[in-house]
Amino acid sequence: MSRYAIIGAGPSGLAAARALTRRGVAVDGYEASHGVGGLWDIDNPRSTMYESAHLISSRTTTEFSEFPMRSSADYPGHRVLKEYFEEYADRFDLVDLFRFDTTVTRLEPRDGGWDLTSVHAEGTQTQRYAGVVLANGTLATPSIPAFAGAFTGELMHTSDYRSADQLEGRRVLLIGAGNSGCDIAVDAVHRAVSVDMSVRRGYYFVPRYLFGRPSDTLNQGRPLPARIKQSVDSRVLRAFTGDPVRFGFPRPDYRIYESHPIVNTMILNHLGQGDLRIRPDVDRFDGATVRFRDGSADDYDLVLLATGYRLDYPFVDRAHLSWQGAAPRLFLNIFPSSFNGLYVMGMIEASGIGWQGRYEQADLLAAYLHAAERDPDAAERFRSRVRTAPWPDVTGGYRYLGLDRMAYYVNKDAYRSAVRRERLAIEP
Ligand SMILES: Cc1cc2nc3c(=O)[nH]c(=O)nc-3n(C[C@H](O)[C@H](O)[C@H](O)COP(=O)(O)OP(=O)(O)OC[C@H]3O[C@@H](n4cnc5c(N)ncnc54)[C@H](O)[C@@H]3O)c2cc1C
Repeated sequence: MSRYAIIGAGPSGLAAARALTRRGVAVDGYEASHGVGGLWDIDNPRSTMYESAHLISSRTTTEFSEFPMRSSADYPGHRVLKEYFEEYADRFDLVDLFRFDTTVTRLEPRDGGWDLTSVHAEGTQTQRYAGVVLANGTLATPSIPAFAGAFTGELMHTSDYRSADQLEGRRVLLIGAGNSGCDIAVDAVHRAVSVDMSVRRGYYFVPRYLFGRPSDTLNQGRPLPARIKQSVDSRVLRAFTGDPVRFGFPRPDYRIYESHPIVNTMILNHLGQGDLRIRPDVDRFDGATVRFRDGSADDYDLVLLATGYRLDYPFVDRAHLSWQGAAPRLFLNIFPSSFNGLYVMGMIEASGIGWQGRYEQADLLAAYLHAAERDPDAAERFRSRVRTAPWPDVTGGYRYLGLDRMAYYVNKDAYRSAVRRERLAIEP
């Protein structure tokens, strides 16, 4: 039986280890950090977690279906989640499959398989595998835009932000208002001397609770057509959170769900209390001064770039993953159409896809690898479909913004049903 490597023991790597071993596929896992949990382990050197972070999607829509969380909190904090992944790995005997403190540095195709080179304190090793599952995460390599001029205060990306201690007594400017940016702005309100947030475009703010329930649990399993959902949800949001323009945000130049929504209304409360201000896009840095596009300017001690992350698979040549622009072009964000033995897990961004969505990716991969060994005709039919048939539309009818961070965005319902259909086609 062929042996496969898995890179990363975060939620996606663990899901892959579980799904593959469940079907009897042999795996070796490689994890650069000391334990499982991926970025949910704040002590993992690659983690981009911060002390105040909690789930953004709610517990029941996020957890693995076969392993509910013990916590009863709707949006548990990162330490609870780290424990959850440790318990998951224990429950399904996944820990011993991984080599910890071992970083994969290179993948090279060789004789129909892959040579995987890894580095451990005891040295460098190269091992041959039939294929490699890349589950090294999507939120680790910062995306840092170029700015005109130079800033003489401290310039930091949110990937280096851990706790509000870093903000104590400082004049803080956050650039970008994604979910992390808004969490950190709320932290800053309590510790910084002043907090400003510079934004380029408007956002949609979804409350954590609607009608007394976690908002992402409403209307589960009965997806509405995109246009109807956009219209209904915009009205509900207007009724619950009001118009963010009133709080100083620009009006969004796109419809709801065409970009990732912000699940945080505390930021609006703080704006209402006058605890922070919204500023326009940055024009340039000028010593300690930041000059904005509307001609205004202010001095800051710390500029925090909440400008997101970019995909990065640094250990393998880009051609092997068919990169196209900001993301590899892969069937269902998993399979290169060349079927070269590389498989990507977790390269999906979506509102509410959760770890179960990531497990379903792994389950499809496991079904394919199992078929490749036991039912070659079914595996060949799958490959032929991928090569010749049109790829499923996983946008759900939403017109996503043409931004780099949206290059691998999917609609969770459309995506999960496409994955399910393919799995059933391999294993009726
Ligand atoms: C603040 C915050 C809140 C979030 N909230 C939610 C939420 O509510 N719901 C949700 O679904 N998602 C959320 N996410 C997204 C999060 O990315 C996923 O939940 C999940 O962690 C993705 O798992 P992963 O295994 O793909 O990647 P990661 O968790 O990033 O794990 C990747 C692992 O690969 C290892 N690795 C990397 N490179 C190598 C290498 N070369 N060799 C060996 N090992 C390597 C890393 O050490 C790491 O352990 C949130 C993210 C953040 C930052």
